[in-house]
Amino acid sequence: MSLPAISTYLDHNATSPLRPRVREALTDLLGREDVANPSSVHGDGRAARALLEDARESVAALIGAAASRVIFCSGATEANNAVLRGTGHHRVLVSAVEHPCVLKARPDADPLPVDRRGVLDLDALDRALAGRPPALVAVMLANNETGVRQPVPEAAALVHAAGGWLHVDAVQGPGRLPHDAADMLDLTALGADSLALSAHKMGGPAGIGALVLAPEREITPLVRGGGQERGYRGGTENLLGAVGFGAAARSVATDSPAEVHRLITLRTTLEDTLCAAVPGAVIHGADAPRLANTICVGLPGVTAERQVMVLDMAGVRVSAGSACSSGTIAPSAVLKAMGLSDTAAREAIRISLGWSTTEADTARFLDAWVPFARRAAA
Ligand code: PLP
Repeated sequence: MSLPAISTYLDHNATSPLRPRVREALTDLLGREDVANPSSVHGDGRAARALLEDARESVAALIGAAASRVIFCSGATEANNAVLRGTGHHRVLVSAVEHPCVLKARPDADPLPVDRRGVLDLDALDRALAGRPPALVAVMLANNETGVRQPVPEAAALVHAAGGWLHVDAVQGPGRLPHDAADMLDLTALGADSLALSAHKMGGPAGIGALVLAPEREITPLVRGGGQERGYRGGTENLLGAVGFGAAARSVATDSPAEVHRLITLRTTLEDTLCAAVPGAVIHGADAPRLANTICVGLPGVTAERQVMVLDMAGVRVSAGSACSSGTIAPSAVLKAMGLSDTAAREAIRISLGWSTTEADTARFLDAWVPFARRAAA
């Protein structure tokens, strides 16, 4: 069965299509016959090692880290698991809106509340830390469903004052941070002790990500093997993935300023237009600092599942905020943490723009969604 051609792709928070320079880098590498194991000491192995280390430098530069502290792994799910299960902390606190791969990595973790905008309650964090043994705390850079950004440096100050470790899932940040928050991808500015990245969210290939450790921070490896990645992650390195990741990091670094400017214009126009056309529509997290590319819109009385299907039939790809399991859409845990009812938390879709999104794409979304939403609201 052939997949339908992607016409209007507005699901960059799920996966952002390969950027042109990534595609080029991957094609070049696939065309080479001298690609060897980066651990081999012969000439071809050394050439592969050079490519791997070059990619590592590019990823490190994106977040202001030393290349020696960037550990390649299979993606952010693994990076998050490696930290949450590898620091040795008995006490773990996680924001209530973390990705399931953080929540499920430590089911014993205590959730930290967010306010109605989706922003971490720093007073609650302070209270949870007070008078207790040092904790591992996970606070994401920005939420994948709403785009709401978290006060990470402020959280880091509280965690460090209590002797703890702050882990940041930064997956949704690269290429999407507004200009006034551009330094929020920098490990030092964030105050993070560890950070997780994923290539496919920034226009690189799926199946590769990175765990980044601040100086002096150590973990017990999750995957042990032949001593690759300085012993932090066993297994022959995914050279093709790393080269694609490195190219994505370089593209994001060069293109981000112009791209973010464009995304904010597209997002603002799209939001304003849909809110004016469908007065009942609600933008979740609208009052919070947000990413440049994400809109989480609720349509009272219409499930996300139905909206996604109607849009899909019109060739417009978006996501339901909530996860689908066994054919039924569960209410979004993120929106519930923001105080929405189960019903309202089932009625939001996520529109996520990216490097390839054009004005024609957002216009096609509006053409498909507005008449449907008006009929549904009538
Ligand atoms: N963290 C966040 C915030 C995400 O949005 C995702 C993917 O949806 C992940 C982690 C998992 O990333 P990966 O697909 O690289 O395992």
